Amino acid sequence: MDSEVQLSRNFIEQIIDKDIAEGHTKVVKTRFPPEPNGYLHIGHAKSILLNFGLAEQYGGKFNLRFDDTNPTKEKEEFVESIKADVEWLGADYEDRLFFASDYFPIMYEAAIKLINKGLAYVDDLSADEIRQYRGTLTEPGKNSPYRDRSIEENLKLFREMKEGKVEDGSRVLRAKIDMASPNINMRDPVIYRVAHQHHHRQGDEWCIYPMYDFAHPIEDATEGITHSICTLEFEDHRPLYDWVVRELEYENPPKQIEFAKLYLTNVITGKRYIKKLVEEGIVDGWDDPRLVSIAALRRRGYTPGSIRTFVELCGVSKANSSTDYAMLEYCIRDDLKPKTKRVMAVLDPIKLVIDNYPEGKTEMMDIDNNMDNPELGSRQIPFSRELYIEREDFMEEPAPKYYRLYPGNEVRLMNAYFVKCTGCEKDENGNVTVVHATYDPETRSGSGFNARKVKGTIHWVSAEHALKCTARLYENLVDEEKGVYNEDGSINLNPNSLTVIDNCYVEPSLKDAKAFESFQFVRNGYFCVDYKDSKEGQPVFNRVVSLKSSFKLEKK
Ligand code: ATP
Ligand code: MG
Repeated sequence: MDSEVQLSRNFIEQIIDKDIAEGHTKVVKTRFPPEPNGYLHIGHAKSILLNFGLAEQYGGKFNLRFDDTNPTKEKEEFVESIKADVEWLGADYEDRLFFASDYFPIMYEAAIKLINKGLAYVDDLSADEIRQYRGTLTEPGKNSPYRDRSIEENLKLFREMKEGKVEDGSRVLRAKIDMASPNINMRDPVIYRVAHQHHHRQGDEWCIYPMYDFAHPIEDATEGITHSICTLEFEDHRPLYDWVVRELEYENPPKQIEFAKLYLTNVITGKRYIKKLVEEGIVDGWDDPRLVSIAALRRRGYTPGSIRTFVELCGVSKANSSTDYAMLEYCIRDDLKPKTKRVMAVLDPIKLVIDNYPEGKTEMMDIDNNMDNPELGSRQIPFSRELYIEREDFMEEPAPKYYRLYPGNEVRLMNAYFVKCTGCEKDENGNVTVVHATYDPETRSGSGFNARKVKGTIHWVSAEHALKCTARLYENLVDEEKGVYNEDGSINLNPNSLTVIDNCYVEPSLKDAKAFESFQFVRNGYFCVDYKDSKEGQPVFNRVVSLKSSFKLEKK
């Protein structure tokens, strides 16, 4: 990354610096706490890299903890995909993999402790009644008629909840805080509910499940997390977080710090919407290259390094804003540029016949793999009488300032010879089918020829030797200017989000390209070999990103 781009110390680092200086924190411990109910997306990548980065920076520890306290939506499939994504991003959690559900006994004991302190009670009000009693932003709530049950009665009733003697929804355990608090989260929040549900990890061991606001601080405290970093929507929950760790008398309790979520323009991140796109077959699974799940970005050809750079450039802030998708593209371009081989691939082929080139002759042209990176070496590619070139590189009637092929004009065939266009053939509908040219043998690339110059250079592949394959071009799935959602809540999809080109011709060397390998197709962009649809000797290329961008990095 550009060394001039130096980010100043963010507000989280400032808090941690202070905690260390004042002796509150010895070893910094952070965590990433996903709920295993879907695939991770670019926003989660920010959270992962932020938490991991802080632990790394301070010589601390980073935990991956599955927040699997809600059995209704969670699945083992998601646990595996999340682990794979976190590892791919390079956030090494070593052996520090935890499951919140393993702390159910600790949470149960914590609830008993609160009951014994007179700080929790079993409530028989229905969910609707609890809502009515809660009050509003402008009106205080009302105490439940069950609020003053004795400690003994609460202990007995809570035990019955745990023993399966209570039906789902008929009783809950609530914290006894303050029904008149200006913060609604403090109005006796529910901390345990009855749910006779199978848990993906704990089986049928439990029929009561803790609520997030009660469970999360206990999870953090149990693991000795020092700084519990979450997104802004939890800011109003912080007083409850602090109440839980204080009343449970944890020594050196964790501190919750909120930062703004990462939002990207023109993308869909909501699990609910992605699920719909997957179920309706609009996209090819959770890793469709048009999505911004981490799995999709990986499939598209993004690298962990490019995502790290992107997240760093976004910075950490307290104010919500959205980041231009073009910045993500800038990061991957920057990452791939020095690393990839530059190869010739023709996406919209038309034949070019060089009439004065001997039939049956093949010359091997020596080409640098990447002029900016000699370490990538060179390769040889075949040149012959019949080539494919891009259809747009020929015009029978040239437009102004058109320097490519048109009758009478001479151009350079990249890494080969100068050719002069002599005309074209057309079908009965007037469409050009073949372009004709003659070459000048003196002009071979590398020969030092400089007797005359040409203005245009075009790429090509040898028709006889080229590999025919599929390339896929992408645009954003949605266009924000038109509104991401329609009035009925459906998604306003961009009909051009996917273009499949089945007769793309590439250099023969690409036959051996491996899944996830990326190349620069000169003039056409960076392409990555699709791991799902490619076959041995028959790669399918996904365009990661085009070569040009309107995006300019502002130097901070
Ligand atoms: P979604 O809203 O997409 O379903 P979520 O927040 O419910 O995501 P979790 O599994 O609960 O998903 O999130 C795990 C962690 O990732 C949380 O700490 C959450 O704050 C953080 N996170 C989620 N979305 C973003 C985002 N857009 N930017 C930064 N962090 C995020
Ligand atoms: Mg969540």
